[in-house]
Amino acid sequence: MNRKQSGLVIKVGIKSCPECKGEVHKDANICPHCRTQLSEHPKCQR
Ligand SMILES: [Zn+2]
Repeated sequence: MNRKQSGLVIKVGIKSCPECKGEVHKDANICPHCRTQLSEHPKCQR
């Protein structure tokens, strides 16, 4: 079975890379597509 969803699919935990517009996990620090560093500041725990 290959059910393909059409239209808007909001994926939780996924953000788009500002450089290549690829799908990147929200916790990812570096885009796996274009190697762009996504988070400018590392972990900032309070
Ligand atoms: Zn990218």
